[in-house]
Amino acid sequence: MGLLDGRKGIIFGVANEKSIAWAIAQKLHKEGAELAFTFAGEALEKRVRPLADSLGAKLILQCDVTKDDQIEAVFRQVQSSFGHLDILVHGIAFANKEDLKTDFLNTSRDGFRLAQDVSAYSLTALARHAAPLMQGRAGSILTLTYYGSEKVIPRYNVMGVAKASLEASVRYLAADLGPKGIRVNAISAGPIRTLASAGISGFLEMLHHVEAKAPLRRNVTAEEVAGTALYLASDLSSGVTGEVIYVDAGYNIMGM
Ligand code: NAP
Repeated sequence: MGLLDGRKGIIFGVANEKSIAWAIAQKLHKEGAELAFTFAGEALEKRVRPLADSLGAKLILQCDVTKDDQIEAVFRQVQSSFGHLDILVHGIAFANKEDLKTDFLNTSRDGFRLAQDVSAYSLTALARHAAPLMQGRAGSILTLTYYGSEKVIPRYNVMGVAKASLEASVRYLAADLGPKGIRVNAISAGPIRTLASAGISGFLEMLHHVEAKAPLRRNVTAEEVAGTALYLASDLSSGVTGEVIYVDAGYNIMGM
């Protein structure tokens, strides 16, 4: 018997087999969840479809989260196919590459707006559509964040500001949706090699720094993040909402 037997979930943010959302999907599926997947653009469908197929997914839908009509279409299809929803995983972030190379001071209005829209506002948009399908079902919504929301990480820049907004959104959404029995939480993951992290200048330096300074003296894996995601998606965390949980080999506790 799995922890998620009979549960229905939707995963946003699988780009390839290195995506943190993919590690989470595998873990949730192993515990019995039936999953739907989305992909951002047609180019990505080629990579996402075989992965989703391998977990027997029946729903594989296009969703650019900056497009309200696509979000609405996704949840309409989820409703007609699943009838309800128990789990939503938000593993989406984007910022212009040039904004992750220069000083934060140089961030353009458009670059700021884009990072906030894709990386932070999308959680609220998705939660608003998911909530009616989760009513009365102890739903769990989870997102992925990074420590650059709290402390200055060189060149994380506009993404750090978007993650601060995302984490605040988690708390406001948890307060709004708590009375309906829906929980909203974030995992603050340590650096992991993925498509998105490859866009951050000096990412290798971040990996080396964590390895040298974190209490566990190593980096974390996507599978370790997925373990905490399973905890947050399941009844094991039934009393937990509005939290940011670190899966970072302890890096965040260090002062010096
Ligand atoms: P990833 O595999 O590149 O995943 C990022 C996902 O965001 C991709 O599937 C990407 O799709 C999607 N996305 C971007 N713009 C989108 C849009 N407009 N609409 C819909 N989807 C869009 O990288 P990842 O590292 O696993 O990132 C997942 C989450 O973990 C992100 O929130 C990231 O900030 C967070 N995180 C990552 C690390 C790390 O070190 N890797 C650490 C802490 C937190 P496309 O490829 O099609 O754009």
